[in-house]
Amino acid sequence: DSETPNTESSMKDTIARYPFQDENILHAIDLVVEEGQRCAVIGRTGSGKSSLTLALMNCLLPNSGTFNHQADFFEQMSFIPQECIQLTGSLRDTVDPYHRSDDESIIKALKLVKMWSHIRRLPNQFDCMLEENDSRISIGQRQLLAIARVLLENRKYLILDEATASVDDDTRDQIKELVDNHFANKTIIEVTHRIKDTLNADIVVLMESGKVVERGRPKVM
Ligand code: ATP
Ligand code: MG
Repeated sequence: DSETPNTESSMKDTIARYPFQDENILHAIDLVVEEGQRCAVIGRTGSGKSSLTLALMNCLLPNSGTFNHQADFFEQMSFIPQECIQLTGSLRDTVDPYHRSDDESIIKALKLVKMWSHIRRLPNQFDCMLEENDSRISIGQRQLLAIARVLLENRKYLILDEATASVDDDTRDQIKELVDNHFANKTIIEVTHRIKDTLNADIVVLMESGKVVERGRPKVM
């Protein structure tokens, strides 16, 4: 009922497709992620993991089923897409698109993701203007900038779609630790290929052919 605050994001029997497409990509998805929980989404290539994250953010067209979101979900959500973020404007625009953070906070976030030593050497530092596919910032470094952005945003719901796929193992471990520390009580939905990343999840969801085929607590393999 409307008196009870909604403390979960959920989908029930959700069937969804991409805009301008006829074929349904997600089939009968049942998913409940309660506030403060960490949900790991795993599954083979093409199984629908990214589609699931997009559906959560209302980017797919539902054909049937119900969707529930916390009232503040859309203003309190940070998302790192699987595809690399496009760099336009300055580095500052990339990590703080709405210019809400002061220089000191930006430097602190860049230090946390170990990008400051690189960026401080660029002309104008984080006010350095970037070109599309700017070769001065590698793909892995873009992912680090995206992590710096979510650290600065400091929101309640975090959706990560293989946010660390392009960095080396040590950097991944460092980012995992950063996320663990900074988002300890927040709601996290993360798509990952690493078993290691699922171990401290509250729920692990296994996707196959656009369906959730298994869900449960992580097991130590
Ligand atoms: P990966 O591990 O490679 O990232 P995934 O599990 O994230 O795979 P999705 O990207 O969700 O898989 O793709 C699931 C299905 O949705 C695929 O069959 C794909 O062709 C289809 N699909 C993905 N993006 C679109 C799109 N923009 N328009 C139409 N169909 C799409
Ligand atoms: Mg994907």
